[in-house]
Amino acid sequence: MSALSLVALISLVCTGFAKQLDAHPPQQQHRHWAQICSGNPTNKIRGCDRYGCGSFGADRHSGKGKHVGVDVICADGATVYAPFSGQLSGPIRFFHNGNAIDDGVQISGSGYCVKLVCIHPIRYHGHIRRGEQLGRMLPMQRVFPGIISHIHVENCDHSDPTHLLTPVVPPFPQQDRHWATVCSGNPTNEIRGCDNYGCGYYGAPRRNGKGKHRGVDVICADGATVYAPFSGQLSGPIKFFHNGNAIDDGVQIRGSGFCVKLVCIHPIRYSGRISKGQILGKMLPMQRVFPGITSHIHVENCDHSDPTSNLERGKGQRE
Ligand SMILES: [Zn+2]
Ligand SMILES: [Zn+2]
Repeated sequence: MSALSLVALISLVCTGFAKQLDAHPPQQQHRHWAQICSGNPTNKIRGCDRYGCGSFGADRHSGKGKHVGVDVICADGATVYAPFSGQLSGPIRFFHNGNAIDDGVQISGSGYCVKLVCIHPIRYHGHIRRGEQLGRMLPMQRVFPGIISHIHVENCDHSDPTHLLTPVVPPFPQQDRHWATVCSGNPTNEIRGCDNYGCGYYGAPRRNGKGKHRGVDVICADGATVYAPFSGQLSGPIKFFHNGNAIDDGVQIRGSGFCVKLVCIHPIRYSGRISKGQILGKMLPMQRVFPGITSHIHVENCDHSDPTSNLERGKGQRE
């Protein structure tokens, strides 16, 4: 059998796997990543072969370098899956010499950022879901005959991803769809009604009916403490007015299956991880810019969907 027809056969088998996965989408929040390569359900890591070892921190360049990733065993031509949901970017190249395995992609989301190399992704941009087909393992044997073929998995911050690849703890029992209190003094995330400047609900008219409110305004007194509605990765600054007024600041949080922008607040920082309920920052002086308005945090989902049900905390349900 030729190498090409073998690849075709493998891909046929693996399409079956992908369909099976699609039929059972994960319903829970996962602390560890999904299977990355068909044929390796436990994300088994490459041991040692004559080219080196696959563990994190293994020697490279005759001991002058260190392996800053982990090598997940994956047969040439096997189907590759997304370890978590996130945004794709790339191509990510490792060798920069155009060899047969010099391709890869980055996924950023769900509180993680990882580069997967020696694979050919189905695309280099857009959103991908955990467990969804991401691409195909490239022909590593052609470049390194006899090597244990593998995907090089590298965290964007060069930290060790081993514990995320090999689960030692059970996943969270259930994903919490309800966000924590966003502003001190407003424990139920009460939404701004209508005032001289407009209304606070999602879809409210803006610019004399020419526009629509793409977020929800959570009531928050000037200077009040602001909390993270869910755990995730911070990025920013996020500006709304772009005119440098007293409330032109904000931050994005991505993680736990959500992505939201909180504006008219000053965050404690614009990067790194934050946990649900942790102090995120302070409400800016909105009365200075809009005297008499119901001061509020503008809360906007990154995909512009309606965040109201997440803010409501299940109306009377306990956390
Ligand atoms: Zn590697
Ligand atoms: Zn708003």
